[in-house]
Amino acid sequence: MTADLYHLADLKEFLQKNGLQAKRSLGQNFLFHKIECEKIIRVADVRKGDKVLEIGPGLGHLTCLMEAAGAEITAYEIDQRLTNFWPELHPESKAGLINEDFLQADAKEFSRCSKVVANLPYYIVKEIILKLISCGVSFQSLTFTIQKEEALRLAQKKGEERYGALNALLQILGPAECVATIKKDNFYPRPHIDSAILRIGPISWPEYSLWQKTLKVVKAAFKNRRKILKSNLAELNIPMKTFSELGINELARAEELSPKLFLALARRLPE
Ligand code: SAM
Repeated sequence: MTADLYHLADLKEFLQKNGLQAKRSLGQNFLFHKIECEKIIRVADVRKGDKVLEIGPGLGHLTCLMEAAGAEITAYEIDQRLTNFWPELHPESKAGLINEDFLQADAKEFSRCSKVVANLPYYIVKEIILKLISCGVSFQSLTFTIQKEEALRLAQKKGEERYGALNALLQILGPAECVATIKKDNFYPRPHIDSAILRIGPISWPEYSLWQKTLKVVKAAFKNRRKILKSNLAELNIPMKTFSELGINELARAEELSPKLFLALARRLPE
């Protein structure tokens, strides 16, 4: 880097000098503290030769350290004001930087990646996670830095208060754990609340067509939280005897089902 962007005064000066006001609408809070960036990379277990997908690299704070660890990076950044500065900021970088909204990205472009590491823009956390788990790429792990409350919510397990469709899907894939906190002072501009690192993995993907059915079943199961599971799943035409055969109570609600039972239901979904 030409400017030391891990140093707050330098980062502020760089942004100011180049007329780059951080855009709140794009969730731009740059994690400038090197030790915290390194913590994320350690949690994600980024190693030499890893092919990593990063969403929202911003000014490259995480990206550069992952490259230094020997990883090959594919990174999607929506804000062209930032990507324009990359050649100047990181002349040595070989990262495949793509100036595009990740939600519009074609999965073929990142299908070689095995790990996802991202300090996510807070306004589309769920949409991004849903895209990553539905796109057909068998990532080994997903490591996200997100607002702490949201991270704790996404790590909830069956029986916990806010366990919903996305929780169930993540728990089916592998352990989803909130592993460390990152204090708000490590970001610029400073957000109102602390963040946390959520790690999902190691992931064991069900076979592709079973996973597509599981996505359908879980989304339908939680569609109307006031309804019982059977009513929510009525539209999927699962044979009635399936519920008793799997030992699912007549009046059970989606939040009472274990990841295993969701998979078992998906297996019984007609083609
Ligand atoms: N990775 C950098 C860091 O750790 O300092 C920046 C993280 S910042 C929280 C989120 C980044 O995501 C911003 O750079 C923002 O421009 C980018 N972003 C927001 N929406 C996006 C989208 N739909 N697709 C790709 N990048 C997006």
